[in-house]
Amino acid sequence: MKLQRRSVMAGTAASLAVVGSSAWAHGYPTKPITMIVPFAAGGPTDALARVLCAKMSEHLGQQIVVENIGGAGGTIGVNKVAKSNNDGYTLLFTHMGTLAVNIALYKSLPYDSQKDLEPIGLGGTNPMVLVTKKDLPAKTFAEFQAYVKANKEKVQYGMAGIGAASHLGGLMLNSMMKVDVLEIPYKGTGPALNDLMAGQFDYMVDQAVNVLPQIGSGNIKALGVSTLKRLPQLPDVPTIDEAGLKGYEVTIWNGFFGPKGMAKEQIAKVNEALGRTLADATVSKRLTELAVELPSKDEATPEALRTQLKASIDKWVPAVKAAGVLPQ
Ligand code: ASP
Repeated sequence: MKLQRRSVMAGTAASLAVVGSSAWAHGYPTKPITMIVPFAAGGPTDALARVLCAKMSEHLGQQIVVENIGGAGGTIGVNKVAKSNNDGYTLLFTHMGTLAVNIALYKSLPYDSQKDLEPIGLGGTNPMVLVTKKDLPAKTFAEFQAYVKANKEKVQYGMAGIGAASHLGGLMLNSMMKVDVLEIPYKGTGPALNDLMAGQFDYMVDQAVNVLPQIGSGNIKALGVSTLKRLPQLPDVPTIDEAGLKGYEVTIWNGFFGPKGMAKEQIAKVNEALGRTLADATVSKRLTELAVELPSKDEATPEALRTQLKASIDKWVPAVKAAGVLPQ
């Protein structure tokens, strides 16, 4: 199953009709909103953003134009939003890697994720999957581990830059396997996945939403999942925890943010559009099939996202430091 990619989500006449009067109360939005996704098109952050923004644009009665600004593990795109005009027309959809994990991985970041951004709402939480190129000579996680250990000089893993979700997944895996292998950075795991399918590197830990369709088509192999429970979509794939790396658990949340100082009423309007989108049966069916866990109404408030961000910083900064990865 391939997620549909479009650059512009048009607010059609039909969709305008469903906009409640509250959406117009203070005029906002009166023009298209730019949604910056700090990774390349075609990856998990992009795919999720596009599914959610298509519906949100209907509720807001304005286009939401997704702009992909990849590079440096998402920090370039996040920084652009942190420094942009806070008039409500430049927003961000990103994941916890770029806002929490990377604090431990960069000597200095150009933004403070807790001070320079306004949380709007959680957009979904994703499990990850360890995937390998099709012809890697390992059929199980145990064989994979043995293979990587025996070939650590030549094995390579792919990721979307320092601090990306795929970097977190990979570095925790490598650290727990006690191997140091060459990492190949991409501007997003969309392009990385294409290269994995072409056999250009050996493995990657990426979000299920991105890799499930290609696992299903046999273009890559799934050898472990990052959650403590198996995924219903991959019942035969063990958790990495049960397969040998006790305690391995990584899930990735995504959320909407605006620049610091964005008006509370605007935040509330975008959050309302998000809430209606998450309650939409078609959206939730499509994302649930791709293993995305959608937040409840209470989990989708701006305050809940602020709390979630702080909790992730408190959890991951010490965990990544303990994994022994030095900041760059
Ligand atoms: N979410 C991916 C990662 O951080 C990047 C992407 O969305 O392309 O690894």
